[in-house]
Amino acid sequence: MIDFSVLKDCRYTVIGDPIAHSRSPQMQNAGFAALGLGTPYGRLHVPVEELPLFAEYARKHLDGANLTVPHKNRILPELADMSPEARLCGSVNTLLVRDGKLYGDTTDGYGFAKAVEEAFGLVPENLRAVFFGAGGAARAVVFYLAAHGAKSITLANRTVEKAELLAQDLRSAYPETEVHCAGLQDTHLLAEFLDGADLAVQATSMGLHKEDAPPFDLTLLERRKGLCCFDMIYHSTPFLRAAESAGLPNRGGNGMLLHQGARSLELWTGKTAPVEIMREALK
Ligand code: NDP
Repeated sequence: MIDFSVLKDCRYTVIGDPIAHSRSPQMQNAGFAALGLGTPYGRLHVPVEELPLFAEYARKHLDGANLTVPHKNRILPELADMSPEARLCGSVNTLLVRDGKLYGDTTDGYGFAKAVEEAFGLVPENLRAVFFGAGGAARAVVFYLAAHGAKSITLANRTVEKAELLAQDLRSAYPETEVHCAGLQDTHLLAEFLDGADLAVQATSMGLHKEDAPPFDLTLLERRKGLCCFDMIYHSTPFLRAAESAGLPNRGGNGMLLHQGARSLELWTGKTAPVEIMREALK
């Protein structure tokens, strides 16, 4: 049962299942406060079967929300409309409530691109990227990269069929971006794709827990000097440690969290987000 009482006085919230770990409230409330808008952002546990109940509450009582696993695509039937980007990638991480209706947008791709530019000076145009993982986060990000001129994208996933489905959608939306697929165990193929890449992205959920095994053969990272390595997970992971010991530039997912959140704040308020204040609040 959703405990809506935790949202007392809140006009915004992050929802997910689980959600207790989310640092969005501290970051967003610092941003809202710096804009003189108080601290209106909460955190709500919403099990998947109760998403329609949350949607009903949001229409009546909220101005906006962020969504995380497992709601980003499950929210689609509740929306009155969504941005072209969200429609293309089929993923929504930001809700806007207007006249009692829900509108969906996605800021994950923007947040990822800003974080990667900050970390490595790489921009989407002409980028050659290898993604490990083809779930919701990878999906939103690869659509953004292709829309902004990425040259090639490789999708390596445990379930290769899921990577192939995503590849098909991506190719039909952006035929100019080369799209390749592989399994996480296809070491020879992965080595070839990594040799021709600027950026390797760890986008599986492996590494969230200390005891998690590496998602693929991490010695592959030792082959390609200068390869930039980005992990969507916020803390140290086997992937980041392997990149570090191979002497490769590497960065975790904090910057992505920051910039996707800053963009959501801008969509809600129409004001420029105080990014540095939000960054401090995340530390
Ligand atoms: P999804 O649940 O949609 O996708 C999970 C991905 O992990 C799939 O590719 C899945 O492969 C793979 N995976 C799961 N278990 C294993 C395993 N045992 N071995 C190999 N691969 C596995 O999650 P998201 O895409 O939403 O999130 C992915 C990661 O990105 C999470 O760690 C999340 O915390 C992080 N994230 C970070 C953000 C940030 O702002 N920094 C924003 C969003 C997400 P398969 O298809 O075979 O199941």
